[in-house]
Amino acid sequence: MILKKRNTPRDLVIQRSLSIRLKVKSNEQEFHLRNIQSGIDGEKAFDQWVATHIPEQFPHVQDIRFTQNGSTLQIDSIIITPENLFLFEIKNYQGTFEFQDHKLYTEKQKEINNPNTQLERTASLLRQWLTKRNIPHPPIQPYVIFINPHFYLYTTRKEAANFIFSNQLHAFARKLEKMNRHITNSHLELANQLILNHLHESPYDKTPDHPPEDYKKGFYCKECYSFEVTLSRYYLYCEDCKEKEPIKSCLLRTIDEYQILFKGEFTTTDIYFWCNQQVSKATIRRILSSTMIKEGKYRASVYKPSTNNFAHRDQ
Ligand SMILES: [Zn+2]
Repeated sequence: MILKKRNTPRDLVIQRSLSIRLKVKSNEQEFHLRNIQSGIDGEKAFDQWVATHIPEQFPHVQDIRFTQNGSTLQIDSIIITPENLFLFEIKNYQGTFEFQDHKLYTEKQKEINNPNTQLERTASLLRQWLTKRNIPHPPIQPYVIFINPHFYLYTTRKEAANFIFSNQLHAFARKLEKMNRHITNSHLELANQLILNHLHESPYDKTPDHPPEDYKKGFYCKECYSFEVTLSRYYLYCEDCKEKEPIKSCLLRTIDEYQILFKGEFTTTDIYFWCNQQVSKATIRRILSSTMIKEGKYRASVYKPSTNNFAHRDQ
């Protein structure tokens, strides 16, 4: 049973916007975007697998972040059973990899972070976090899930003790099926505490430092990201993929995007130009006053950036 769903990571929203809107793009940015996208695709594939293979009674908490002793702890997925709190780090690596002296290398002999180190750190911080709050919990069992079937790792049994490869998921599901499924209030309370303390913002989130002139203005299609769109009174139509989106939803996501790309307060006029003057100021003002907190009392109101933007909405 899903108790908290995964949100679109803020970094993905930023990198996607940069890729769609920047007039001059760098290869490094595009590479970073592909990496984040691949990570989230892996996480979603695991969510899908859990939904179809893991007994419905077990609470499933997706994407949790909090701080412990000044360190930020981010967990891709947690499943609570009466016997274990399973903590999952999900990797969507593709290709052939190799362990040499506790170090992980790609096929081109490039060293990448050892997932075991990250897993141990996360499990230890979670244990400390729960102990500090006197939250009862079953023993923590951490795993790295290599979700991609096109991943191969040369390693030892010891090094891979906490790894689950895609072709081992079936056996793992069978193990969970045999477990006691009696979920009590204390298990639900444990999940609830994790969710209540989840931090929406990451201390590592950065706002890009491009000025507005660097960006293409206007609306783009939410499905294919094309700027070849036409607006009617109520809808935005994509000329390329024929997607149709209500103007209100399109305007909201465009305002959200503005807030995530620029720091600080903004006005109706800022949004008017960001939308390439394609929607009237009156319409923008109406949307802003119904969804945002105003800073000023007068006509030239400025609006505060909201934390409740689409980076944090469920997908
Ligand atoms: Zn489209």
